[in-house]
Amino acid sequence: MHPLEAEIRRRIALGGPMPVQQYMALCLSHPEHGYYTTRDPLGRAGDFITSPEISQMFGELIGLWAAALWHAMGEPQSLRLVELGPGRGTMMLDALRAAQVVPGFRAAVDVHLVETSPAMRAKQVQTLRKLDVPVTWHESFEEVPAGPIIVLANEFFDALPVRQAIKHFNGWYERMVLIDDAGNLAYGISNEPVPLIEHLLPEKLRDAPVATIFEWRPDNLVLEISRRLVRERGAGLVIDYGHTESAGGETLQALGNHAFADPLITPGEFDLTAHVDFQAFALSADSMGARRHGPVTQAQFLRSLGLENRAQALKNAAPQKAAEIEAAALRLTDESRTGMGSLFKVLGFGHPSLALPGFEG
Ligand code: SAH
Repeated sequence: MHPLEAEIRRRIALGGPMPVQQYMALCLSHPEHGYYTTRDPLGRAGDFITSPEISQMFGELIGLWAAALWHAMGEPQSLRLVELGPGRGTMMLDALRAAQVVPGFRAAVDVHLVETSPAMRAKQVQTLRKLDVPVTWHESFEEVPAGPIIVLANEFFDALPVRQAIKHFNGWYERMVLIDDAGNLAYGISNEPVPLIEHLLPEKLRDAPVATIFEWRPDNLVLEISRRLVRERGAGLVIDYGHTESAGGETLQALGNHAFADPLITPGEFDLTAHVDFQAFALSADSMGARRHGPVTQAQFLRSLGLENRAQALKNAAPQKAAEIEAAALRLTDESRTGMGSLFKVLGFGHPSLALPGFEG
């Protein structure tokens, strides 16, 4: 048995059933045995692959986006470029390389990485060693020092633990993880209904049928980032898969070795994620006075930032790689039902006076 499963069973035996949120948090970030704590899951040989790992074009376009935004912010002399959950550091490396064309931006930037996993931090140190800009690591966003700020997050929010409520005939109950009679990890429900859930539930779920599942994330981080963006005249970019409108339904999933698995089997060995509810996200940002842009699909966003031109320039520079570059551009913007171009959404949010590139038209 994986040491994390033993630990989860021990906690349930001692304290009773645990909320799905706590289960997910332990699976991903347990300080010794968590999925992210112990490994680098990214890349072709890993469990999943992300946009920056597919092509350098992704990070490069984000870098140019950030440089354009810095200009729109009035070219502050110092800028905190923050990334949440930077993975291998690839996006930041590509972003800053591309942004060399705007020397003022490069000179203003200091990089702040919010990363809890020691394994991923080690990767980031390696990747960003060559950079000539200061890089600081943080356990949480609150540690990032005050000042003009741009916040980036690709496939970060989907890894934050979700809470789940399930509708019964007499109300909504929290979904829990317990040990069933056969000795397996299984789902159950809380003894009491979820307090104050009516404030979280989208209108259309008020009369949802019995057994409907509703997922939500505590929004303190979104509120805190929004507050900073409004106070410091900055902006943020969230790229993730999710739904543009809050809805019922379970999206919690386990992914290992590029295939789906049962979230309750082999905790700690698979990545657990759940869709980002962009409507809930935007409402939280709004409530802090931030202006939101989009969400638009990843395909729309990358095209609007000039993916085609970028691909062409790379192909001209390395004609022998033309097919590979073309395939990567297609993959990032694939708009079929399960393609990254449509599944992934991009939401911008920031100070109300700022127009964000990439969301026009
Ligand atoms: N953005 C990267 C990696 C995505 S994987 C890319 O697109 O390739 C998710 C990243 O978030 C990993 O680096 C993981 O270690 C980190 N992470 C997960 N939960 C976190 C948390 N609560 N706080 C900070 N980082 C977290």
